[in-house]
Amino acid sequence: VVNLRQVTKKFGSLTAVNNADLEIERGELITLLGPSGCGKTTTLRMIAGFETPTEGVVELNGNDVSDVPPYERDIGMVFQYFALFPHMTVADNIAFGLKMKGVDQSEIDDRIEEVLEMVSLPEVGDRYPENLSGGQQQRIALARSLVVEPDVLLLDEPLSSLDKKLREEMRMEIMRLHRELNVTMVYVTHNQTEALAISDRMAVMNDGEIRQVGAPTEVYQEPAGEFVADFIGSAN
Ligand code: ATP
Repeated sequence: VVNLRQVTKKFGSLTAVNNADLEIERGELITLLGPSGCGKTTTLRMIAGFETPTEGVVELNGNDVSDVPPYERDIGMVFQYFALFPHMTVADNIAFGLKMKGVDQSEIDDRIEEVLEMVSLPEVGDRYPENLSGGQQQRIALARSLVVEPDVLLLDEPLSSLDKKLREEMRMEIMRLHRELNVTMVYVTHNQTEALAISDRMAVMNDGEIRQVGAPTEVYQEPAGEFVADFIGSAN
């Protein structure tokens, strides 16, 4: 569904992503894992079409992402800081994308109800974000991305501002939603434990390069080189 072909991104003299090849399969949950500054977010932003590769191409369903107009990209994004609109109720926050798409009001109401059930917060539609906890806000951010039924959901460190208990709870929630909705997810994290726990496959990055792509067991048991071995914390 997403294909990176020899993608390089430079910011001036700095190479943020270097010659990355990655084929993301429909329905999988793939993590981009690596230390701070290794190019994870830049990779995600190129998949979203927010950044254009300096070299190479990112394809979405076979088309160069840069050639697809933003509203036709069918990509959802969830960030570390939830970025809900503070002056809108939860329901209006969720409705926003649907209104942009021209969905009619009665269907919007149904879909809001459905998606709030999905993230286990059926009663909060009339509240404002400031009256919700961090974890609840992040659930609403998830709901807002899911309600437009994106082809691909991009998550950039979605749990890192939450405390440990909530983080584990939300991790389960994301895995459950992934299973139930079968949506393709690309999940950025610098947390090895998190990546090992949730990934179908993980792409381990360092210095702008993808060092290994594989299932957690594979990467854990057969790290491709010293960096991956050290970073994953397995003996090699
Ligand atoms: P983190 O986990 O800290 O967010 P990351 O792995 O997501 O790190 P990126 O944010 O992709 O890393 O950054 C990769 C490199 O590119 C870093 O050195 C960063 O400073 C640089 N970079 C990212 N965006 C820009 C930009 N818009 N202009 C200049 N340099 C940038």
